[in-house]
Amino acid sequence: MSTTENLYYEGRIKVPYKWNVGQIGSQFLVNLRDKKEIWGIKCPKCGKVYVPPIKTCWECFVPTEEWVKLGDTGTIESFTVAHYTNQVMPKNTPVIYALIKLDGASGSILHLIGDADPEKLKIGMKVKAVFADNRTGNILDIKHFAPIKA
Ligand SMILES: [Zn+2]
Repeated sequence: MSTTENLYYEGRIKVPYKWNVGQIGSQFLVNLRDKKEIWGIKCPKCGKVYVPPIKTCWECFVPTEEWVKLGDTGTIESFTVAHYTNQVMPKNTPVIYALIKLDGASGSILHLIGDADPEKLKIGMKVKAVFADNRTGNILDIKHFAPIKA
């Protein structure tokens, strides 16, 4: 009786999918795409302004209803510089990821920093949204945030 060597093939599966962002998420993205405006949604009970907007306040469990137009500026709360990219990132390295607290919002969003020297970035630095020329209804309709030059 002979034994057979077990060989393995390493493959990758790419799984395209669509995810419905819902009525509130759609309105948020349409405003980015068509107006280059960032809107949040306010909880009627605690007053928190959520960006991206959510249907129900995470803390009060009440429906959020009031849309609030925010500016396009914010503050870097944290950031990291990545020197490795992957196929879903439309940026060349280094890629700077940052948590940005938009002015008027209660929380922060994760986005990209561009037009910046990674060595000169600082927590607390003010940044401004730079919108993509070709917008498609996607969070990357904000191309990135760039430091506001003093
Ligand atoms: Zn609330």
